Formats: sequence, C-alpha cells, structure tokens
Amino acid sequence: MAKLTVHEFQALIERIYGEKDSARGTSGTFMWLTEEVGELSRALRRGQRKQLESEFADVFAWLATLASIHGVDLAEAALAKYGGGCPRCSGTPCRCDDPHAGHGEPAPQP
Ligand SMILES: [Zn+2]
Repeated sequence: MAKLTVHEFQALIERIYGEKDSARGTSGTFMWLTEEVGELSRALRRGQRKQLESEFADVFAWLATLASIHGVDLAEAALAKYGGGCPRCSGTPCRCDDPHAGHGEPAPQP
C-alpha cells in the first residue's frame, strides 16, 4: 500500500472503525482528535521520526473519522476549497499580504 489517495484512506478508516465511530458520535470523536493533536505536538517537539509519523497518521485517521460521521468526503472538500490555489487570493503559491494568515481564513473586512 505504497500509494493511497485521501478518498481511499477515508474509506479504509470507515471499513476498520466505521461502526464504533458512529456509535461514539461527534463529541467523543472530536475529543480523540484533539488528544491526538496534542500527541502530535509532543512528537514535533521531541523530533523522533517514527513517533512523528505515527502521530501524523493518528491525527489524519481521526480527522477522516470525524468527516465520515458528518458525511463529508475529505478529498472532495479539500479539492473544492484548495484545488484552485489559495482560497483568498487564488494564488499557487499564495500571494496574500499577511504571511501569518491561516489557511482558508476569510479575507479581513476593511
Ligand atoms: Zn493567498
């Protein structure tokens, strides 16, 4: 399984955990996602490669699960939002003036 699309990954996680995930619901699943984000933060600070890869995989899996619970196709959603470049300036790479603006944040109001 060297190559895996985002769509295939989401389907794989659904096959592995779908039943348990639907029973757990949004709140419990969101807590797992945030817990894994915390573990990713620790792995980033410690810099151990294997642990880092494992935590990225966990965060991605929990994000996919949360999307599945809500009937969101992660690949479609990501492509719809970022397929045309930066959602604010349409640039690839982004040409927005504020280098600290978050991905996909709405343009500031004048
Ligand atoms: Zn931009």
